[in-house]
Amino acid sequence: MIAAKGYAAIKAKDPLEPFKFDRREVGPHDVQIEILFSGVCHSDIHQARDEWGGAIFPLVPGHEIVGKVVKVGDHVTKFRVGDIAGVGVFVDSCRHCEYCKEGLEQYCNDSPVFTYSSYDKDGNITYGGYSNTLVTDEKYTLHVSEKLPLAGVAPLLCAGITTWSPIQNWQMGKGHKVGVVGLGGLGHMAVKFLVSKGAEVTVLSTSPSKKADAERLGAHHFLVTKDPDQMKAGERSLDFIINTVSAQHEYNDYLPLLRVNGTMVLVGIPPQEPSLGAVNLISKRRSIAGSMIGGIKETQEMLDYCAEHNIVSDVEVIRMDYINEAFERVLKSDVRYRFVIDMATL
Ligand code: NAP
Ligand code: ZN
Ligand code: ZN
Repeated sequence: MIAAKGYAAIKAKDPLEPFKFDRREVGPHDVQIEILFSGVCHSDIHQARDEWGGAIFPLVPGHEIVGKVVKVGDHVTKFRVGDIAGVGVFVDSCRHCEYCKEGLEQYCNDSPVFTYSSYDKDGNITYGGYSNTLVTDEKYTLHVSEKLPLAGVAPLLCAGITTWSPIQNWQMGKGHKVGVVGLGGLGHMAVKFLVSKGAEVTVLSTSPSKKADAERLGAHHFLVTKDPDQMKAGERSLDFIINTVSAQHEYNDYLPLLRVNGTMVLVGIPPQEPSLGAVNLISKRRSIAGSMIGGIKETQEMLDYCAEHNIVSDVEVIRMDYINEAFERVLKSDVRYRFVIDMATL
């Protein structure tokens, strides 16, 4: 076993605290990564507080991981010692169901093995990236270009791929008017990708103070969702909405913004189930859909696209021991636009 250290919630709702544990030995297909940066996703908070139910404790969060390969197994072909590697939201899957074969491992019929709060194939709890080192199968590990600042790359492994995947699936881009609800970690990546693909982007936010940032990110319009007049004026204007909201809200408030045939794609996972009015869909043949992260091949394509187009997350780099304050600030929508832990501070 490899001795590892990190930060964990020992039980639901506990603040995170220093925690020692073991990683498995490096197997023939494994790489060992010294973690350099770990992004703070809102899902880490939902899970550490068990807001969705079923979280497994002790829980070491972190699924936006970038680090350096320090050891490779005998049969590893994709990586060499010294390479920069990334790990996202899952670290394994069944590998033989129709979705795994199609590169849609996130929708594996057996459920993927998540990077934390999951059990691996040996029945051990998985621990995430708020730690110094990680051992993963090379098949579920991504190549990261050294051209980009690595702290800004870490959030691409979840916030990036989660917004990239629906943009690709629905082919959002030139000629489309797309709304992004919630300018947080996921939302600001959605804006960057959509702008890069030529869409006309509207940020729909509860925070008027984020208007200047939305413009800097390239958004064309900014709509304050708490203002009924602005919401009324925006009715039937959008082809797509990407909804990244993490807290209680009503889908019915946003659906009228869609044109005929418009689609709202949900990526945010609020603990409370919002209600949904049939007439809001029926009256304009609107759809509501969902999307979860992305497959390994698609994640690599997204990382390569970002390296080519110079796209990274806007980050505030923090020390490990700031994590509990960082969680509180995320809950207040007070992050511009992703906290990333410098793991050297652990
Ligand atoms: P985040 O950085 O906290 O961003 C969420 C944004 O939602 C906030 O910045 C805020 O934007 C807006 N918001 C917050 N409370 C709201 C409310 N009551 N009503 C309306 N808007 C509100 O979180 P994140 O890391 O981007 O994650 C967003 C959600 O996606 C979380 O639920 C997370 O678990 C989920 N997620 C899903 C996947 C997936 O695979 N589908 C992957 C990763 C994360 P404004 O200030 O602009 O209003
Ligand atoms: Zn995440
Ligand atoms: Zn599978």
